[in-house]
Amino acid sequence: MPEGHTIHRLARDHTKALAGQKIEASSPQGRFTDGAERIDDRRLERIDAWGKHLCYWFEPKRKRDEPVGMHIHLGLYGKFRLHRLTDRDGNPKELPEPRGAVRVRIVGETAAFDLNGPNTCEIVTPDSWQTITERLGEDPLRADCDAERLWKRVSTSRAEIGSMLLNQSVFAGVGNIFRCDSLHACAIHPEREARSLSRDEFDQLWQTIAVMLKIGVKRNRIITTDAALKGGKIGRPSRSEALRVYKKDCCPTCDGPITSWEQAGRAVFACEACQSKDPD
Ligand SMILES: [Zn+2]
Repeated sequence: MPEGHTIHRLARDHTKALAGQKIEASSPQGRFTDGAERIDDRRLERIDAWGKHLCYWFEPKRKRDEPVGMHIHLGLYGKFRLHRLTDRDGNPKELPEPRGAVRVRIVGETAAFDLNGPNTCEIVTPDSWQTITERLGEDPLRADCDAERLWKRVSTSRAEIGSMLLNQSVFAGVGNIFRCDSLHACAIHPEREARSLSRDEFDQLWQTIAVMLKIGVKRNRIITTDAALKGGKIGRPSRSEALRVYKKDCCPTCDGPITSWEQAGRAVFACEACQSKDPD
């Protein structure tokens, strides 16, 4: 499943490609025909990203009406395909035929996209979008994220921190790779009780997750190495060089073995030597 950086990157790329444009919407597969009708022939105003959720906002037909939102959660199989409608010289380019089961096709003036296989694709109002986001946790890629509110939840919870990191109603946007690698970067064992974290450990963890996600948006891939976290030159690491402990055999810090077990339904990876089970 895509982690939060992919969602924010999609919001950024689609905003650049389509914001301000009048769009045509359709559902080639037929499962979103009514929804497509609701947004067809409107201008795309902006795109909201929160954790793993996206919301495309379309202008109201009449000024006094509310904007209409299209809420998307990609889930495991959802995939966007962005198409340019002009080539580099500005000549028009033909839109390809829909491939596979396209839930929604959005065609703007200079670009278009197809969405296949999302977990959720539905029309929302500003109120119903608020109901959705109220259930989501803090997303460090959002300007309105609140570390104090998050600290209150973490510092009073008996949950294991490794499980809590995957709970989208606490940390929005963190997936399995960020969970494993951020805990390793902060030398915190995934099975530590959340409330055993000191304020310093929490601050460092939150900061690390924020930096990892920001690098992810910028580079459109996950890079969690020490060099990347310290703001040094990243270069073009291979997939395995880009990560710390996720799906690794040996620890990049101490060369010791990485162990893996199930936690919150997913395989967690950690170095038992570097990530202490005892609070500081
Ligand atoms: Zn180690």
